[in-house]
Amino acid sequence: MVGGGIPDDTGNEIIVSLGRMDRIRSIDRTNDTMVVEAGCILANVQAAAVEADRLFPLSLASEGSCQIGGNIAANAGGLEVVRYGAMRELVLGLEVVLPNGDVLGEIAQLRKNNTGYDLKHLFIGSEGTLGIVTAAALKLFPRPRSTATAFCGLQSPEDALEILSRVKEQCGARLSTFEIISARQLEVVFRHIKTASPLDKRHSWYLLIEITDSILDAGLSELLMDTLSACIEGGILSDAVIAQSEAQRSEFWALRHVISESNLHAGRVLSHDTSVPVSSCAAFIRQTERALSGRSDMELTFVGHLGDGNVHAVAIFDREKVGSAEFEARASEVSNIVYEISASLGGSISAEHGVGVSLRDKLATFKDPRELSLMRSIKAVFDPTGIMNPGKLFSACPSNATS
Ligand SMILES: Cc1cc2nc3c(=O)[nH]c(=O)nc-3n(C[C@H](O)[C@H](O)[C@H](O)COP(=O)(O)OP(=O)(O)OC[C@H]3O[C@@H](n4cnc5c(N)ncnc54)[C@H](O)[C@@H]3O)c2cc1C
Repeated sequence: MVGGGIPDDTGNEIIVSLGRMDRIRSIDRTNDTMVVEAGCILANVQAAAVEADRLFPLSLASEGSCQIGGNIAANAGGLEVVRYGAMRELVLGLEVVLPNGDVLGEIAQLRKNNTGYDLKHLFIGSEGTLGIVTAAALKLFPRPRSTATAFCGLQSPEDALEILSRVKEQCGARLSTFEIISARQLEVVFRHIKTASPLDKRHSWYLLIEITDSILDAGLSELLMDTLSACIEGGILSDAVIAQSEAQRSEFWALRHVISESNLHAGRVLSHDTSVPVSSCAAFIRQTERALSGRSDMELTFVGHLGDGNVHAVAIFDREKVGSAEFEARASEVSNIVYEISASLGGSISAEHGVGVSLRDKLATFKDPRELSLMRSIKAVFDPTGIMNPGKLFSACPSNATS
């Protein structure tokens, strides 16, 4: 997503694949933990948890190919952060090989451990710049045995935030997904993928909401229906349909999952991974719409994790009007506008995809220089000669040019 795993073009860099370090070392059902090697594919980790009658909740569209080490290094988020948190909240301990060859090999499996700086957090989200993660202890959760999924149509992102509050109030910790999709985004899907809307009428905005419970027959469809009916009566929701079968649930989810692919068919895609406080999401959307509306060279859509304050503003440039040569300049102009809006609302330029090389130069503008300076100091402590993923997060250190 941000070029974090791609070497430079000197031909001098060494690429390390952990694909063969793919063992599930142990599963502890009482401690609710599993220790896995970093090369494990995420979907295999999820499946191993299910076999032990547990849930490992990280869930992304790339789960069939991405590895736990990459999820940790990128602090991946995904579709259930609103309930379980991002990768940072799912890791209890790490095994890491440091640039000097030392191994931090004690994989803590503790829920509580207040013995000073918690070093694992430095590696989570470090994008491979401090060391190579080789194994991790992950948190497990009770498996969901009841699920209710709704596809909703509504008028505004402001109403969406009010609905989010009400669903949280009524359904509590059961809320596991709260995704928003703009009408334009759904239209792009319908233009390029043969599928139909679950709702009869067109709406300005759509929500995909899922609640789950580990209790069988927990009455979730009724709970969600009552909650959403009250929203309709209150005038903040226009229509909603609750999946009546696993097949219908999969159809709702398919609409969400095909969005990236549809956008690629539609034009040259520039997706932003910004986050703002959840309560500022509507302001973010409105200000971005105002700033970028009326441009004939691109279509603006929104999709993402409203429940986490991480709504992707997606600019889809018309291939006929914006050639590959012009794309970079246009993209930079549009991105700066989106990042400025996000920053003005107290947001971040990267919510879950990381910095890599794509956003490296933007960090200097959008991150506090004191924080950046401390980050460089930390990098120097772990990796004084700059051999770990050089040029990612920060510019490569000059002493590394020949290493
Ligand atoms: C279709 C698609 C959908 C996605 N959806 C989401 C989403 O919803 N939410 C989200 O957060 N992300 C999403 N992503 C990006 C996601 O973060 C990555 O797919 C995944 O988390 C990274 O794992 P990977 O194995 O692909 O890592 P890579 O891309 O190979 O590496 C990512 C970074 O981690 C470093 N790294 C990899 N392994 C290690 C290791 N063992 N030790 C140290 N550093 C390491 C690399 O150097 C690189 O900097 C999506 C990606 C795709 C392709």
